[in-house]
Amino acid sequence: MTHDAARILYRGRLAPSPTGLLHLGHARTFWTAQERARQHGGTLILRNDDLDRERCQPEFIRAMLEDLRWFGLAWNEGPDCGGPFAPYDQSGRLSDYRAALDRLVDLGCVYPCTCSRKDIQSAVTAPHAADDEVIYPGTCRNHRKSEIGNRKSSWRFRVPDGETIAFTDANLGPQSFVAGRDFGDFVVWRHDDVPAYQLACVVDDALMGITEVVRGADLLVSTARQLLLYRALGWPPPAFFHCELLRDEAGQRLAKRHDALSLRQLREQGRTPEELRAAW
Ligand code: GLU
Ligand code: ZN
Repeated sequence: MTHDAARILYRGRLAPSPTGLLHLGHARTFWTAQERARQHGGTLILRNDDLDRERCQPEFIRAMLEDLRWFGLAWNEGPDCGGPFAPYDQSGRLSDYRAALDRLVDLGCVYPCTCSRKDIQSAVTAPHAADDEVIYPGTCRNHRKSEIGNRKSSWRFRVPDGETIAFTDANLGPQSFVAGRDFGDFVVWRHDDVPAYQLACVVDDALMGITEVVRGADLLVSTARQLLLYRALGWPPPAFFHCELLRDEAGQRLAKRHDALSLRQLREQGRTPEELRAAW
């Protein structure tokens, strides 16, 4: 590919979830995503990851767009400005997720799981994945939909136990995770009939033509999971660039509950984006 073609093709994305106020950690990751897109002369899209209907509230969506703009972020395609891959709200894309799930079911890559959270947590071993998710003990691995009838179930992806999933991160270098040890069978469709993050993210990044995913290092293990979904669905994966996580003075990861460090509050305290960027 020529240099020019690579410049034209770069497509990056910002994918915030409006479940709370954005904090400085999000801003830094998004700033990096914007820089990457600019360096490549590419397109940046904003996707509103609003599948969790209970936690995603309209006032957070408004605040999210406002805070992102205040911080100096700008996008070429998004829920507010449209674009060739609209809609840019995950809640409007359910038919795509459903089609991908159907394919995974047909391919035999997923199985219905009727375990409750408590069942899984109290399973004898219940070790934890590299990112602290509980490793699913495999209780329902041999279930078929016909056997569980009308009982509520989630759908889990069956990971290839013992296989090493390796990729080269554009920021952090070579990464590898062992399926079944570093992460277990994961949910692609929740028991409340909502697509899970792993599936929705892969479907959107693939269908929106994203060429590089920039996100926090807390999602490295999810990248390994998602690579398995790309493979199962027969889609080429994008490149990945994981950003180191911002920590507070005590070395704690910034989470949305750190309200003191929400962009909103920083702005109300009179801080400017330039000043905040100079400090990280
Ligand atoms: N909405 C997801 C989050 O905020 C996106 C993560 C990702 O970049 O893949 O965690
Ligand atoms: Zn189960």
